[in-house]
Amino acid sequence: MTAKDTGSLRALRRTNSERLLSALMEHRTLHRAELARICGVSRTTVSTIVGELLIGGVVIESADDAAADSGADGRARGFLQANPAAGAAAGLDFTLERIWGHVTDLAGTTLASDGVTIARDTPWQERLTAGLTLLDGLLASAAQNREALFGIAIGVPGPIDRQTGVVGPSLPGQAWAGVNVSAEFGKHFAVPVLVENNTRLEAVAEFTWGAGRGARDVLYLGLSTGIGSGLLVDGQLHHGGARGGGGEVGHISADTSGPACPCGNRGCLIQHASVPAVLAALRPVLGEEAGIEDVLEAAKSEQADTLRVLRDAGEVVGRVLANICNLLNPERIIIGGELARAGDVLLEPIRATLRRSAMALTRDVDVVAAELDLGARAGASGAAALVLRQTDQLVSALLAGATSRSSEAV
Ligand SMILES: [Zn+2]
Repeated sequence: MTAKDTGSLRALRRTNSERLLSALMEHRTLHRAELARICGVSRTTVSTIVGELLIGGVVIESADDAAADSGADGRARGFLQANPAAGAAAGLDFTLERIWGHVTDLAGTTLASDGVTIARDTPWQERLTAGLTLLDGLLASAAQNREALFGIAIGVPGPIDRQTGVVGPSLPGQAWAGVNVSAEFGKHFAVPVLVENNTRLEAVAEFTWGAGRGARDVLYLGLSTGIGSGLLVDGQLHHGGARGGGGEVGHISADTSGPACPCGNRGCLIQHASVPAVLAALRPVLGEEAGIEDVLEAAKSEQADTLRVLRDAGEVVGRVLANICNLLNPERIIIGGELARAGDVLLEPIRATLRRSAMALTRDVDVVAAELDLGARAGASGAAALVLRQTDQLVSALLAGATSRSSEAV
């Protein structure tokens, strides 16, 4: 056999390793026979490669109770899975007054999660330092360090220009506007640093661990101070299109003769169904100082004006969503943000308007409230989930780690 042939064989083996490991990352646990079928390779090939991956500590095998009970030949037949302890994934989420951090193992089990408060006028460099300190503390509490990370994702409010990586302004005076967050964090880590809009990360968190589980086409709508969205198409996060500016559902005009919006349009959804819009509509009833907790309390005690304002907001959201359903036909819509805590008072008018306004094949969409109840913290857990979903990168990092471990052993 020539050196070239040996090289090709090694490359083929590597490709098969990647395919097997990718399948395990996606399906979580598989038998050898299932792996062979899914990857379209022989059982002998699977046995050889799995043997190497087990030695490298990339894959672990756990007893299959059903097979053990059958006691066919006394040998434990195992479920295979990527080794959760082989490394960690981290997420950080920056909001105006908080930084949230979240660390998971490779199986998605939370290792540490916490947040710190920060003054609204804190400049970017201080925020970055505070984020790194928070992350190092979380990693230490989980007996990990930065070297154990396979990836880190950072959430920020506002759009991220996908051509330049620079965060665009969404509100005046935001510390991260004009910053290349990925490049700034990249100076501190040897692994890839992903940056994503934090409403999209909330969508990934709900899709992975919350109200989106089991669905493939999911639209998440966050009704908060602003209104953002996250879209997963056939299980893949839509990153916002050509420049990353897509998903600004809050600035879809719901009433072209409505009041002027700072974005330049009239009657934007944000002017009807955001937290500030609902508070403004209820100010004559609940008072100048009323906050979202007062609104939720008034809704619970069925205060008539509050129910009306929330119903009106739900109907406007439903009209905008009907247009989106006609375009995208999602299977499930998840309503998140503080307003979603009003529950069916808000959700029922959304469902009724959708049934009335969307086209026949799109109107049966499931409309549910977000489940994670983590508030802004969901963005940090979604960031860690996004890292775990970068299967290709994870697989090559895992395999590289296994190779270096086996050469250290030699
Ligand atoms: Zn607008």
